[in-house]
Amino acid sequence: MPAPQTMFEKIWRQHAITVEEDETLLYVARCLIHEGSRHTFDRMDEEGRAAAEPDKVFAFSDHYVPTANRELGLDAIADPKIRNMIELLTINCKKHGIRHFNIDDDDQGILHVAGPEQGITLPGVLLVGADSHTATHGAFGNLSFGAGASEVYHIMVTQTLWQRKPKTMRIAIDGDLPFGVGAKDVILAIIAKIGHGGAAGHVIEYAGSTVEGMTMEQRMTVCNMSIEAGGRAGMMAPDDKTYDYLEGRPYAPKGDEWDTAVDYWRTLPSDEDATFDTEVSLDADAIAPMVTWGTNPEQALPITEQIPSPEDAGTEAGKSEISAALDYMGLKPGMAITDIPVDHVFIGSCTNGRMEDLRAAAEVAKLGKAKVPTWIVPGSTTIKREAEAEGLDRIFTEAGFEWHGAGCSLCTAINGDLLQPGQRCASTSNRNFKGRQGLGSRTHLVSPAMAAAAAITGKLTDVRTLTEEH
Ligand code: SF4
Repeated sequence: MPAPQTMFEKIWRQHAITVEEDETLLYVARCLIHEGSRHTFDRMDEEGRAAAEPDKVFAFSDHYVPTANRELGLDAIADPKIRNMIELLTINCKKHGIRHFNIDDDDQGILHVAGPEQGITLPGVLLVGADSHTATHGAFGNLSFGAGASEVYHIMVTQTLWQRKPKTMRIAIDGDLPFGVGAKDVILAIIAKIGHGGAAGHVIEYAGSTVEGMTMEQRMTVCNMSIEAGGRAGMMAPDDKTYDYLEGRPYAPKGDEWDTAVDYWRTLPSDEDATFDTEVSLDADAIAPMVTWGTNPEQALPITEQIPSPEDAGTEAGKSEISAALDYMGLKPGMAITDIPVDHVFIGSCTNGRMEDLRAAAEVAKLGKAKVPTWIVPGSTTIKREAEAEGLDRIFTEAGFEWHGAGCSLCTAINGDLLQPGQRCASTSNRNFKGRQGLGSRTHLVSPAMAAAAAITGKLTDVRTLTEEH
């Protein structure tokens, strides 16, 4: 009788080619890149190397694309350095025969949104992306993680990667999510509980009845932020929802190959008696709508709470950390989170730029008019089309929200979309680091419904109080 295995172990073994000392050479089934991969191509040119398996590599113009005036194509970009990043990716993909979801492609989008949409992301694969939020794809029951430039170079020229085997952590979330609480609140509550380094060195498997009850889009939101808990990757067991989502997508297997694939995918979930290096559990019914108040995603609290004081910390290091975060964020200990005004709202990113996110925001947008500039940025051009077909764009524009083209936009502020120094933003993205949305910008991470609530009140707001009134 073979020993019980975790899903991680099964996928790792399936892709292991050889082991040397404490490192394993793994076959990489999918590699996703974006405009930032120019150094990989430069090195390939210098060394005269070609892509080993270009049909396993997929490129996305997302980080640097403008989200306004998209009908102008590249002419919408005023800054020649930004334009150059997209042009270089275009040239390099043509040269190496790589499928490129370019700025004007009907299916362009953020790599972690468009990849699953296209069926490039499949259960059981080892998927590596040139981006730290590649863990998103683990929602489909695979091993997906981000890699640096030298690792991506190695993949490009060999389709393999050396890795140290990580430990495993199971986070079990059980129960029904209360009214007004979504997947973003779940992952913020997890990170607040285990800390932003709490899963360091581990691959997280999310399990439990709450996860089983989630849609694929919700599952992606949770896995997306695994890296913010320090996790190497995040994954969830595939099930019928996974297969229903994938069937018929352009890059998913077809016909007999589909049936064979589903048979294999059903063997992937962790065996019943499999053991994990670390176990964590959470009650879904104790989670409230969450808001970050500081400069890392661990610094998060329920919207009903007050800003903490440095004196609350048990150590000198903890006191300094809170003090520095409050100083940067311009907040005072003890103030109610619901008293914090915002200057801007951003609804989008690979965490929360999908259809369900836009629908949730639109439901709240129907309740009022934007008091501050509010941007809705779909995660892909496909989502933009679908949302327009559903009339969501009209709901947003009637509420005074701005409807944008698809891309990373204000999540990273390297594409021309950025906040001014000191501006405070309620954002559905995944990082509230100093300057993430522009030099001196202040970010509060929230769910799409909470972001829309902040838009129509002009301050951080408990969305439950708005929706209960109607
Ligand atoms: S939306 Fe943000 S986190 Fe996601 S891929 Fe783009 S820059 Fe990275």
